[in-house]
Amino acid sequence: MKIFDPHVHMTSRTTDDYEAMAAAGIVAIVEPAFWLGQPRTSAASFVDYFNSLLGWERFRASQFGIRHFCTIGLNPKEANNPKLANEVLNLLPRFLQKDGVVAVGEIGYDDQSDEEEACFVRQIELAREVNLPILVHTPHRDKKQGTIRSIELVRSLGFPEERVLIDHNNEETLPIVLESGCWAGHTIYPNTKMDEARMAALVLKYGSDRIIVNSAADWGISDPLKVPKTIAVMREQGIPEETIQTIVWDNPANFFAQSGQLDLAGLGERPVIDRAQKFETNSVLRGDAGQTAG
Ligand SMILES: [Zn+2]
Repeated sequence: MKIFDPHVHMTSRTTDDYEAMAAAGIVAIVEPAFWLGQPRTSAASFVDYFNSLLGWERFRASQFGIRHFCTIGLNPKEANNPKLANEVLNLLPRFLQKDGVVAVGEIGYDDQSDEEEACFVRQIELAREVNLPILVHTPHRDKKQGTIRSIELVRSLGFPEERVLIDHNNEETLPIVLESGCWAGHTIYPNTKMDEARMAALVLKYGSDRIIVNSAADWGISDPLKVPKTIAVMREQGIPEETIQTIVWDNPANFFAQSGQLDLAGLGERPVIDRAQKFETNSVLRGDAGQTAG
């Protein structure tokens, strides 16, 4: 089965992870721009980060046979630093039009502050201008209210709901998202949020329409194999293969294809692995063949 993990922060992960993901059937991924743990103090840090999502990380994924796409945006947490946020928002238009950018994101609410809302609104408007879908993060605290506010904001701005992916859903928020025209992402985490069995139960209850599953693996406790592990549990629960394939491939592919940046016909073919290739002067190899510092 072909697998698409549409939310995984590979910058924080190792080459072992890439190898394991490819072996488990993951062919395509989306890496959303997000918070790095350590707060950034300068817009220039965002420039380097966005460039690395578009350049080095995409190259690194290709060296393991995985297609890498990204979303670019100012995350809600760092939206709470107004001076920096404004500088980053001004940078976005030049990055959003680059190859491989499949949405504006992750954007949305974290503490549900006024500053976050202002940045959320500006980035929805930007998405409309550059004709990209949006990837919306929902908060850990007061998730239900954050989900409702996100949908209401999208509606009040007249942004097309079929171009909105609301992420990190649970049992409480999924029906709210499905009632709208938005798509519903689910993050399968080792200890918190959704797990494999709860996800399978949601699929048994709601089916596959507009339902998406991801690992959101990053620098915290998380697991980049959570999508394949969820497939195994869905199979145990008797969910048909076609339903599973819709959730772990067709849905994310069709959602992000709205960007015009995904070639649906070629998406399922892995990039040819050629480790003689370099990105600028670096390769993933060691020693004479590569010049990776270590
Ligand atoms: Zn994320």
